[in-house]
Amino acid sequence: VTHLLARIDSQSRLGAFLQIDAEGAHAAARAADARRAAGDTAPLLGVPMAHKDIFVTVDAPTTAGSKMLAGYRSPFDATVIARLKAAGTISLGKLNCDEFAMGSGNENSAYGPALNPWDLGRVPGGSSGGSAAAVAARLVPAATGTDTGGSIRQPAAFTGVTGIKPTYGVCSRYGMIAFASSLDQAGPLARSAEDCALLLSAMSGFDERDSTSAERAPQDFHAQMLQARAGASAARPLEGLRIGLPKEFFPATLAADVNGALRAALSELEKLGATLVDVSLPRTELSIPVYYIIAPAEASSNLSRFDGVKFGHRAAQYTDLLDMYKKTRAEGFGAEVKRRIMIGTYVLSHGYYDAYYLQAQKLRRMIADDFQRCFADCDLIAGPVAPSVAWKLGEQGDDPVKAYLADIFTLPASLAGLPGMSLPAGFGEHGMPVGLQLIGNYFAEGPLLHAAHAFQ
Ligand code: GLN
Repeated sequence: VTHLLARIDSQSRLGAFLQIDAEGAHAAARAADARRAAGDTAPLLGVPMAHKDIFVTVDAPTTAGSKMLAGYRSPFDATVIARLKAAGTISLGKLNCDEFAMGSGNENSAYGPALNPWDLGRVPGGSSGGSAAAVAARLVPAATGTDTGGSIRQPAAFTGVTGIKPTYGVCSRYGMIAFASSLDQAGPLARSAEDCALLLSAMSGFDERDSTSAERAPQDFHAQMLQARAGASAARPLEGLRIGLPKEFFPATLAADVNGALRAALSELEKLGATLVDVSLPRTELSIPVYYIIAPAEASSNLSRFDGVKFGHRAAQYTDLLDMYKKTRAEGFGAEVKRRIMIGTYVLSHGYYDAYYLQAQKLRRMIADDFQRCFADCDLIAGPVAPSVAWKLGEQGDDPVKAYLADIFTLPASLAGLPGMSLPAGFGEHGMPVGLQLIGNYFAEGPLLHAAHAFQ
């Protein structure tokens, strides 16, 4: 803890941390020592980590990367945080993210960007950019993140770390500040699939305080992974595994360096015994308009609670209640958040609901069905995480659609609620990391982690 706190301090230019909780970390370390002395051998006991600032925590303030929540302190811990605490992990603080998790580069944080440790002129991805930067720069061995449309997988890819977004419902959303509730999922970012398996086992599980939590028995993903490995041949651990390659995930527009790194990774998977099969996800392109209708629609509803009455920021001067609401929201929210609230309000409004929101919901179902057709022919799906390596800070300019288009390969699994992973798959242009995405069927985190572990 002492070493990492010093390291975090020396690397503060990365902008990875929004809050450092040195006192809390030392106290948690002493508690972990006491548990160990008493014979406790829990695998995560005493493991230092840090949390995306979208999870509410008692020990440190929670901002969701927004001015709206500056100085806000929650009276309770998010379920994911409480479970990781109970497992003995030590929180060193809270990590930077795009405001309310809206973004793909961590450039939408009200507290400044987080930087990519591989090239400080580039973004670490987003919205869990601080989590990815912190793990990649070895400030912490692991971090929590959330993924609504790619926010664990894409930053993991941009920084060369491993991340998993589990099946929707595996991790409780209780205490995770809501962006788009039907898509939001928590997950870990860490150095390896094996670490992710340990973390996910501790984070996940049914929670009656989240109405969409999956009612399943607690899972030990790490044990499942080791069991799959033990039953497999040492030289060809993936023998019999069919990996589907959707042709829409390898378009001509995919950057050549990304394509090259992926092809090399796929031939590694073949050497490990996997067979590659051609499949199709014909509505891949449509996942962009579908997501950018559904996510803002849900966000416009979720963010209505930030009105200056109960939480965080309130305008200093106003004439009446309506004026207080308006000024509070005008001052508290950043440009991207306001844009999404407006889009969401528009697509849900009378006369436009059927044309946009309802259509998007129908297409969402078709996208999920397309995956099930693929899974008739394969066990896992592989493809890129993003169409390019990490871009330069400011490169997207003021055109938000540019960033939206770069979400094309992560949105389909999000809309379908399927588990997805990002694994380091070598390097592309400018020596920047490239991520390999693996997508599994519902609740197939065990086989997904086994494949990822064998690959690593
Ligand atoms: N980039 C996507 C967005 O801006 C996804 C963000 C996320 O997964 N939280 O909405």
